[in-house]
Amino acid sequence: MIVIRALVLENGEILLKEVEMPDLQPGEVLIRVNLAGICSTDLEMTRGYIPFSGILGHEFVGTVEKDPLGELEGKRVVGEINIGCGDCYYCRKGIKNHCQERRVLGIRQRPGAFAEFLALPRENVFPVPEVITNEEAVFTEPLAAGFQVLEQVHIPPSCSVAVLGDGRLGLLLAMVLVESGLQPVILGHHRDKMEVVASLGIKGFIAEDFGDKVDFVIECTGKTNGLQLAQELVSPRGTIVLKSTVKGKISLDMASLVTGEITVVGSRCGPFPPALRLLKGKSLPLEKMVEKKFPLSRGREGVKYASRKGVKKVVLEISG
Ligand SMILES: [Zn+2]
Ligand SMILES: [Zn+2]
Repeated sequence: MIVIRALVLENGEILLKEVEMPDLQPGEVLIRVNLAGICSTDLEMTRGYIPFSGILGHEFVGTVEKDPLGELEGKRVVGEINIGCGDCYYCRKGIKNHCQERRVLGIRQRPGAFAEFLALPRENVFPVPEVITNEEAVFTEPLAAGFQVLEQVHIPPSCSVAVLGDGRLGLLLAMVLVESGLQPVILGHHRDKMEVVASLGIKGFIAEDFGDKVDFVIECTGKTNGLQLAQELVSPRGTIVLKSTVKGKISLDMASLVTGEITVVGSRCGPFPPALRLLKGKSLPLEKMVEKKFPLSRGREGVKYASRKGVKKVVLEISG
């Protein structure tokens, strides 16, 4: 039996363990993980957002070690995290993200990317163009989640847009919006973080000081009160897009949604191709977003570091 090292979540605790090398199922490729990003979803999972035990991690860039068809071997790749059953109504409709039987890398019934190796179906795997560095490519998955907003709602260029939240996802979303021809503002609490996207012409404001109403509010606060803050900001007939995955329930002022004729849209994972195109074509200020790198052997420390308040992206360096 070949063993590999991995960060495993067990009863809310993260452990560095030796686990079995993933077995390739038909249609899958084996990927040696180079870098993996720690995201808020991982942190929420350690708090029990979703019952999961196993290898965490869903943001990665790696190199294909084994491809039974040979085509992808040696290629640098990133991977979409939802694996559908392939057979149900949703899978046949092409929305495997909503397959009831889906497995999700490092999130649901599928070992994740905080490991030396992972397996993914080849249809989930996308080669990374050479001009994109590993440090940039590790942001593909969260950038794709940003593009999902544009798949779900049409934002006319004349409309006002605000990204609520200056965390990791908020900054990436602001980048996606501005590169798509919109003029978002970012509303947060950390001037140093909002400064990261200032070079793209995105203005940042302290959320409470921003007096205007906006047509589209993209909520990325990662907090349970994010929807309430968004409700305060949104214009009549406006749209709130919810991106935060937080454990918790809230009470809601339903009447103001009705009287304001507000549209509320939940939004999750997104398409990889536009994210890779964006990374290839533009130099986004992503290096400034990586705050610290930890080797896998110090992964526990890395996760702890990532959960400190106001921290930017923390990345695990798994293999060179
Ligand atoms: Zn994530
Ligand atoms: Zn399915």
